[in-house]
This record gives sequence, structure tokens and C-alpha cells, in this order.
Amino acid sequence: MSGQVRAQVDKYFEVVAHRNAGEPEFHQAVAEVFESLTVVLERNSKYADFGLIERLCEPERQIIFRVPWVDDQGCVHVNRGFRVQYNSALGPYKGGLRFHPSVNLGIVKFLGFEQIFKNSLTGLPIGGGKGGSDFDPKGKSEGEIMRFCQSFMTELNRHIGEYTDVPAGDIGVGGREIGYLFGQYKRLTNTYESGVLTGKGINWGGSQVRTEATGYGVAYFVAEMLKAKGESVEGKTAVISGSGNVAIYAIQKIHQLGGLAIACSDSSGYIVDKKGIDLDLLKEIKEVRRGRISEYADAVPHAEFVAGGCIWDVPCDVALPCATQNELDDSAAKTLIANGVQAVAEGANMPTTPGGIQAFRDAGVAFAPGKAANAGGVATSALEMQQNASRDSWSFEYTDERLAGIMRGIHARTIETAAEYGKPGDYVHGANIAGFVKVADAMFALGV
Ligand code: GLU
Repeated sequence: MSGQVRAQVDKYFEVVAHRNAGEPEFHQAVAEVFESLTVVLERNSKYADFGLIERLCEPERQIIFRVPWVDDQGCVHVNRGFRVQYNSALGPYKGGLRFHPSVNLGIVKFLGFEQIFKNSLTGLPIGGGKGGSDFDPKGKSEGEIMRFCQSFMTELNRHIGEYTDVPAGDIGVGGREIGYLFGQYKRLTNTYESGVLTGKGINWGGSQVRTEATGYGVAYFVAEMLKAKGESVEGKTAVISGSGNVAIYAIQKIHQLGGLAIACSDSSGYIVDKKGIDLDLLKEIKEVRRGRISEYADAVPHAEFVAGGCIWDVPCDVALPCATQNELDDSAAKTLIANGVQAVAEGANMPTTPGGIQAFRDAGVAFAPGKAANAGGVATSALEMQQNASRDSWSFEYTDERLAGIMRGIHARTIETAAEYGKPGDYVHGANIAGFVKVADAMFALGV
């Protein structure tokens, strides 16, 4: 039986790989989910029927569009825009927009595919989607960013809506960009449709805690992982890659929970501050000045800046990769293991390579994939949609409590599912299976 199911899953994978040639990140994301599916199909062969797995892997709709914009010198530039509306079985497509030169269709598909399972795991009524552009915001003026966002929305607006598809931010898209995008949507449609985008400003339809949500959620999740081992964040050292929104608020919550975040990074290198990262300074450098991480070491004499290098060389109890995909490979994982890491939770989407995941598994280190650990961001987006739909606005404390409860729920669901399917303690299998079963059941109910 087992061999037969494995062969069937391998055959599905071949179809997906053939149909989506040249998209390595997408293949990687699909392969990870498929690895967990063998045990599901063995237990219930209905999931192999009605083309379910093929339908799940093929986006419902893929939109690619031209984004022309004018720079401050009057020169015209053209970027490519994407929106992949992956799966709407559980609710409107939901997922961020990423502006980064590495963005292409394969990257957007990998992110959209992950988003289906992540959104399902939150327990909230949201489908999966993702979008973005190969536009590089680095070094662009305020006016250039605004004109780019307006041009991007000039095409995107016809494809989205509060009951259709609700984008938000991701790498390179924060509150400022969401503002320009929403402004253009409002201008073009002549409607104040708050629920069409999430991550909005607090004064104009946004939710408290949305900015902090992904980072806070990762910290809440890792606290649950440690609790499951009879431990806590209290007194633990944490290394957090990245210095964007996710990293900054993960650091803040780790500190609030009694841990000590000692290192973070950007694309130029990493800093180590053994006394604990000064968050006000980090926010000033990254959010106000939009500067480089080395400026932290310029301002703090006891801190060290390492140009380039690998942040995972820094010994720690807790590792939170919060930068980008495939930033933590098997050799980095082995270094972390040798240095005694106790828990790893992904703040970014798929930051750990398959070899890295295997190394943690072999060493018995608790490892949580992004689709469980970083779901706090999109979950709080769903809370923003709830507030918009009821024209309400909740307090910081209440929203934060809801977020913490959702993260505890995801942890419990993940770990219970892993045990139920004979993989105790394996968060990867637990998240993939729990996320999959809910979407698959909805797809059956809705018919082909
Ligand atoms: N970009 C975030 C993620 O990867 C949030 C998406 C959203 O809020 O829609 O989950």
C-alpha cells in the first residue's frame, strides 16, 4: 500500500514539475507538501480522487501585467506585475504583494501555494493568493514609489475586491505602499472599499497589531514550541535574521516574553549585540532612515558588525529566520545544532532549505515551518477584514489577545495532527496535513 501511494504521489509531482518547468522555488514548496501527503492518501484514498491534487497545484487564475512608471528624471521604466489567485475554496484569495527584483512567476506561485495551507491553518475564512513585481524599491524616491504603486494598482484594481481577492504587504510593501495602492484603488473605483486591502493605516480602516502581527505571532508560536518541551522563552537567547517588519516585531515580543534577541541582519551583513538589540535604534535606522544594519554597530560601541557572513554562526537557543527564502541551508542548520539550538521557527516564507529541515529533523530539534509560525500576519489581516466588514475598530489589547489565541490554536492543531498521522513532534507534517485536509474537504464540497 505504502509503496503504491508513494508512486502515485511521485507521479503527481512529475506532472506538476513538467507543467511548471524552470520554477525551482515552486517545485520545492510543492515537494515539501507532497512529502506529507503520502500518509494522508494512505489513510483516505478519496483525496486522490476527482483530480483533487492536480486541481490544488494549478492556480485558479494567474495574472501578469505591464507596470510602466516615470522616474524623477522623466525617464520611463517598465516592470512586470503579478497576481496569482491560487485557491478560493475557503474564502476570497488572500496574500501579500512582494516588490523585489527576485520576483518572477515561479516565486509568486511558490508563495501563493504556501499561502493556501497557511491561511487554512489559521481557521479563518480566507483562500490563498500572492502577487508582486520585480520592481526594486531600494534607492527610489518617495515620488517614484508612489507613482509605481499607482501604476501597479491601475491594472490590479480590476482583478481584486473585498469578496474576490484581498492583497496585503510582503517584502518591499509596507504601510506606505498599501496607502498609495489603496488611494489609487479608491480613486479608480470611487468606492471606499476598506476590505479590499489589508495592512492599512489605523486612521483609515487598518487594524491595531497588523504591523506587529507576523513578528509577534512568530514569538508566540516559538513560546508554544518551548512550552511543549517544558521550557519557556524566559532567559533564552534568540538570533533573528532580517531587520524588516517581521524581524523587528519578533525581537520586540521576544524581549517582552523575557528572552534576549542578540543578532539580526540585512543583505549587507549582520550585527551582534550581546546585551540585547536596542529596538528603538534598530527601528530608527530601518524604518526612519531606511539605512544599513552596519549603522547599528556605528552607534553602539559594544556591538559588532560582520560584513556578509552567516548569521547562523552566532550561537543561540532560538533561531528565527525572518529574511527570505532559502537563507538557512543544511550547513547553517548543522552549525546551529552544534551550538545547541533548541527551537527554530520560520518568520519568512520557506527560509530553510529541504536539507536544513532534514538536519533539524535528524537532530530532534523542534522546527516550525512558516506556514504555521508566520501565519499571525495573515490571520490579523483576516481580523482587519472582519473589522472592515462590520465598520468596527478593536483595541490593541483585544486584537493582540485574538492573535495570541490564534497562534496557540495553530500550534495545537499542528501538533495534534502530526501525532494523529503518526509523526509526533513534526511540525512540517502537522502543518501541511492540517492545512491540506481543510482545503481539500472544501474543494470536495464545492464540486469540480
Ligand atoms: N505577506 C504575509 C504572508 O506571507 C501576509 C499576507 C496577508 O496579510 O495577506 O503571510
